Parts: sequence; C-alpha cells; structure tokens
Amino acid sequence: MDLARFPRRHYTHAPTPIEVLPHFTKALAAGCPGGVGPEIWIKRDDLLGLFPGGNKTRKLEFLAADALAQGADTLITCGAPQSNHCRITLSAAVKEGLKCRFVIEERVPGSYKKEAGGNNFMFELMGVEAITVVPGGSDMGAAMSKVAQELASLGRKGYVIPGGGSNAIGGLGYVACVQEMQQQWYDMGLALDAVVVGSGSSGTHGGMVAGFLGNNIKIPLIGIGVSRDPADQEPLVHKEAQAVADLLGLGKVPREAVKSFGGYWQPKYSVPNAKMVEAVQMLARTEGILLDPVYTGKIMAGLIGLARQGHFKPNAKVLFMHTGGLPSLHVYEDVVLGRTALDA
Ligand SMILES: *Cc1c(COP(=O)(O)O)cnc(C)c1O
Repeated sequence: MDLARFPRRHYTHAPTPIEVLPHFTKALAAGCPGGVGPEIWIKRDDLLGLFPGGNKTRKLEFLAADALAQGADTLITCGAPQSNHCRITLSAAVKEGLKCRFVIEERVPGSYKKEAGGNNFMFELMGVEAITVVPGGSDMGAAMSKVAQELASLGRKGYVIPGGGSNAIGGLGYVACVQEMQQQWYDMGLALDAVVVGSGSSGTHGGMVAGFLGNNIKIPLIGIGVSRDPADQEPLVHKEAQAVADLLGLGKVPREAVKSFGGYWQPKYSVPNAKMVEAVQMLARTEGILLDPVYTGKIMAGLIGLARQGHFKPNAKVLFMHTGGLPSLHVYEDVVLGRTALDA
C-alpha cells in the first residue's frame, strides 16, 4: 500500500522492537488447560517517540503532518484529565512549533484540579496554551469547534483532532505499523497465529484491520475492549476501519474482520479491577515490563483470560501490542501494588 501519498512526520526513528516473553509465557501456561498455553510475543509501542510514546504517537505522525499541510498554527483536541492522547498531542505540537489547546471532559464533577500531578503537571510544563473543562457527556466535537472559532476570530487557524486521534487520517498510523511489523515478522521468520490489541476510541484496532486487509494478512486480530463490550465496540471499529480503507481505496471491509472481546474493562472505563492488577503484576514480575492500569493492564488481562479459557491452540504464537500509557501507572500506585480491595 502506498502510504507515501499522505503527508507524514516521523517521531520514531526505527521500528519498535518485537520480543518473545519466555518467563511470562511459562507463568501463563500454569493456568492454561493441560498446563500448556500460547507463546507470547510483544510489540513495544510503549517505546515510540514523543513524551512518553504510545499508540497516539503513530496517529499524530499523520495528523500533525496534515495540520501543517493545511497551514494550522494550533492543535485542538480533547480527552479525560489523564488522557495519554492529550499529553502526546501537546508533545507533538511543541515539537512542530505549534500551539495546543484542550477540551477536558470532567467525568466526575469537581475532579479536575489544575494544580494536580500527573498530566496537569506535564500539560503546564510543556506549555499548553488553554484548557477548557466541560462536564461529562458534553458534545466534545462542538466544544472543540468553539475553540477553533475563537482562534479564527483572532486571525489564527486551529486544527481539530478528535478524541484519541481516531479518524481516517489518524488510523493511517496503524496501517503504517502493520507494514512495519510485516517486515519484522518476515526478517525474524516469525509466523504468528494471532495479534491482540486494545480497542478504545478505535483508531488503533480499526487502522490495523485496514492494514491487515490491505496487506493480505490473514491471522486473527483480536481486540480487547477498554470501555465497551463487542455489541457496541465492533460497529465503531468497523466504521473506523472502513474510513481508513476508503482513504486507501481498499474497498469494503468485511464485518467479520472486526472481532473484539468485552468483560475485562468493567466496572467502568479507567476504573481498576482485580484482573488488571494481576496482569500488571505478572508482566512486571516475569519480564520487567510495565503496563498501565487504564488500557494495557486490562488488555493483557484479556489475553490472559482468553489463554486460560483455551482460546489459543497450545504453543500458538500470540503477539501482544503494548500501546503505552505508562504515566498513569503512578496515579494508581496503591492499586497496582494490591493495597486496595477490588472487584474481579
Ligand atoms: C488510547 C490508548 C489505547 C486505545 O487505542 P484507541 O486507538 O483509542 O482504540 C490503548 N492503549 C493506550 C495506552 C492508549 O493510550
């Protein structure tokens, strides 16, 4: 597929590593049917560029390039107070000499504190220009358009990036990732049986569905919902995959190409559960690799759960996409160390 037709900036200067996880594989096998589980591999997209890298970095390579091509001077985006997407968008803006404004959705009234640590500290340190806080359930698109209009009235030009950077252009980042991985698998002689990826605002999962289709990759791509069960999540991902496929001229995306599992994100998006804590501890203590509590901890809990149910053939090679998110780990230190009682 010819991605060179689309403007792109480069924020990471080598493919992110693909590694086998021998100790994690062994620990996982103990709980699998017959004591034999899948062999787990990892794609280290937690090591992407910008601060600190994660899956949003790949989407922003195409989104920031498009903003520059359109002559924008400001990136406008939205998210929750600890949004990885907002933080990485700000980092991209700084790198490109652009200004950056956020609309933050305060899901719990009164919870947004400007002087709080975590993201707010980093927002201020990297010099966000303005933050608009709106109540949970607000129309984020309308709130961002309003910010763009304010800028226009000042003779400036804003570029609106939807939540999570998940639109057709952002999804190209994960088409590029699929192409990068396909070359790595070939160079390593690695014949995988399945890939497991997180499924949230859908740009990552949807972009990969389009990338698998365009590159004729036939192995299952398994999404783990971080905020929705399959009945709600799969149509969203299918829509995103189709939008990316349309941009690339790939034709129809079969509905069956989109597969996801729920049951690991409850009780709510970003609220911890016991399976997440087990997954974070298991990878940290077998391989020294950290996961985050909001996304990758729950996504890995999904992989562990499927393996224990016998979803993968014994010794099947399964690749876990580590999409990043580490800064929020520090917001949940007591939880991931098991000092807080949680539901399963
Ligand atoms: C945003 C995010 C995801 C989910 O990706 P989407 O493209 O929004 O579906 C997964 N992991 C991390 C760490 C994220 O920040």
